[in-house]
Amino acid sequence: MRHASESQQVNDELKTLIQLQQLDTRILALKIRIDTAPSQLSADEALFKEAQAAFEKAKQNQLAAEKKKKEKEAEIEDIKEKIKKLKTRGAEIKNNKEYQAHLKEIEKNEKDIKIAEDVIMTLMEKLDESQKAVLSENTRISAEKLKLDAAKAEMEKEIAQYSVDLEGLKKERPGIVSKITKDTYNFYMSILRDRRGLAVVKASNEICHGCNLHIPPQMFVEIKTGQEILQCQECRRILYYEQPLSEPTGEPKQ
Ligand SMILES: [Zn+2]
Repeated sequence: MRHASESQQVNDELKTLIQLQQLDTRILALKIRIDTAPSQLSADEALFKEAQAAFEKAKQNQLAAEKKKKEKEAEIEDIKEKIKKLKTRGAEIKNNKEYQAHLKEIEKNEKDIKIAEDVIMTLMEKLDESQKAVLSENTRISAEKLKLDAAKAEMEKEIAQYSVDLEGLKKERPGIVSKITKDTYNFYMSILRDRRGLAVVKASNEICHGCNLHIPPQMFVEIKTGQEILQCQECRRILYYEQPLSEPTGEPKQ
């Protein structure tokens, strides 16, 4: 049988552990928010990169069309030069058969010019399209950049606020920790580390709220008295009982 004062001490320690857990849960939640805040930008970053890639592609199409157009123009100049030379040579031809062949060659070269000119027409259409695409993708990049910058600024503001909140919560910790013994604190911390930040959990209806497994009835009765620090047999977490609001306690509600 425990002495009343000893029970009171355990009871107070348990209350402090519950307080400490509540504080650590808030600290952990803020740390997670700070760590995951940059990932909020991933959708905006993806859209910005997509616009950049589309711009690059349009720019490449434009350059390729320009290059081909220049090549075709040079080709035409070459053919024109060739025709000029052919025509100069024409005066020297005496034989009629040779003269016919000569005319045919000029004709063929003139056809080649027509073909090259048609290709240039098509290329000019492509060039026009790609120039329009370059302009519109450039506008899109600017818009996406503005959105991304705004999201970044918002995120940095959030992180700054979370950091202030976190520092405030951390300052509350020593005051709470000072109310329990070093051993109890170390015990709490070892469970906290093993159980991913959750060392103290509620017990209700003979169920541990940490692992959702069953608590033996006798143990549950002991947990209800709150006069011992008891651990879940499955997950080792410290258990406490909270009077349901509907259950009359005979004490004034807090
Ligand atoms: Zn458990």
